[in-house]
Amino acid sequence: MSITGIKGMNDILPEEIATWQFLEETARKIFATYGCQEIRVPVVEKTELFCRSIGETTDIVEKEMYTFNDKSDHSLTLRPEGTAPVMRSFIQHKLYNLDQVSKLYYMGPMFRYERPQKGRYRQFHQIGAEIIGIDDPRMDAQVLAMLSHYFEAVGLDDVSLQINSLGCPECRPAYRQTLIDFLQERMDQLCPDCQRRCSSNPLRVLDCKSKSCKEATVDAPSVLDHLCPSCDEHFATVQQRLNQLGTSYTINNRMVRGLDYYTKTTFEMVTNNLGAQNAVAAGGRYDGLVEELGGPALPGIGFAMGVERLVLLLQDKKIETPPPALFLATLGEEAELFAFKILNQLQREGIYAEMDFSGKSLKAQLRRADKLNCRYTIMIGENELATGSAQLKHMVDGEQQTIQLDGLLDGLRALLDDSAATSL
Ligand code: ATP
Ligand code: MG
Repeated sequence: MSITGIKGMNDILPEEIATWQFLEETARKIFATYGCQEIRVPVVEKTELFCRSIGETTDIVEKEMYTFNDKSDHSLTLRPEGTAPVMRSFIQHKLYNLDQVSKLYYMGPMFRYERPQKGRYRQFHQIGAEIIGIDDPRMDAQVLAMLSHYFEAVGLDDVSLQINSLGCPECRPAYRQTLIDFLQERMDQLCPDCQRRCSSNPLRVLDCKSKSCKEATVDAPSVLDHLCPSCDEHFATVQQRLNQLGTSYTINNRMVRGLDYYTKTTFEMVTNNLGAQNAVAAGGRYDGLVEELGGPALPGIGFAMGVERLVLLLQDKKIETPPPALFLATLGEEAELFAFKILNQLQREGIYAEMDFSGKSLKAQLRRADKLNCRYTIMIGENELATGSAQLKHMVDGEQQTIQLDGLLDGLRALLDDSAATSL
């Protein structure tokens, strides 16, 4: 019996890779214009890193982590998210000594033991950014503007930005208690998970998908009515700057996020096109995290986008790998020798060209050129070698032109450069 992959862990096949590369390249380009540099961290970390940062009572740490002991009996965990590993690295390498602000981005696989379904997998990919060192709300607006810019650039306009503020260690405890008091009066209407969350992680109840919990919390006190003056002003400035930039958003005072480290601004990019998996990106401010992990008291803000969900949303947009610019069809040994050299010269110049190596008839070679969607085909046989010229066929409009074999490379290069420019 052949061996299959692991449930919830997908192969990304060549037919969909163009979309992945497009999403990654666009992120690199856009993030760079905001001053972000890439950081690459391992996919495995010490388990305690995630327990301490994400929070012991969160779904991720309680149920979703891939945790195992290595041969030396150290507890390791496949990273369920990118922020904690990036902060660990930031602290370990004292990146804060290099500049007062560190703008980092990452991309790569994350692992969560969840029930696999559309848009939810056990190995999935995130592209994320983290800005450490500035607590000014203008930076929050910059991060949100960058995220919106990215969605525009990849052509996803059917998403909306929701923002909220979760307060800070000054004002959150009082809100938390107000919420607990409210929930305790409605305990019997809450799902078993939320009954448990009431004391451990009450804010999370506001985010529960169960109908009865939603109904029970319709009139729950709003976190936004309980912000201290400084958090209130911070959130007001974020909105003011977004308004100034024309970045659209809605305020969702029930968005609490599933990780404990968030403070002040939190946000999600949501869509209506992915069923229950409606969040395509999420993030927020985490002003206490660096210190909590043993670093200096530096504020931070970041987000992560779920690449699989972006790919699903882009399904209809047909992003494809470019086809060969040229197919060299040959007849006879001498023509094959001539074409083989040209083929390799074109490839060395970055022009994608193909020819046949399996002794196919001329007709079969042309069929293959068609199948590969080649832009041009050139036919070279004894005649062509004797006369020193050949027919170059444009495969879309069928038009043919004579091209000289002497200096063929220059001729092709000019033609292909030209048509690449016009097809852009
Ligand atoms: P959800 O509410 O959908 O479980 P989350 O709050 O757990 O999401 P985050 O931890 O904020 O998600 O991760 C950021 C983004 O990563 C999400 O918005 C989503 O696009 C993506 N993501 C999270 N978990 C998965 C998963 N199991 N499979 C695919 N994508 C995921
Ligand atoms: Mg989740």
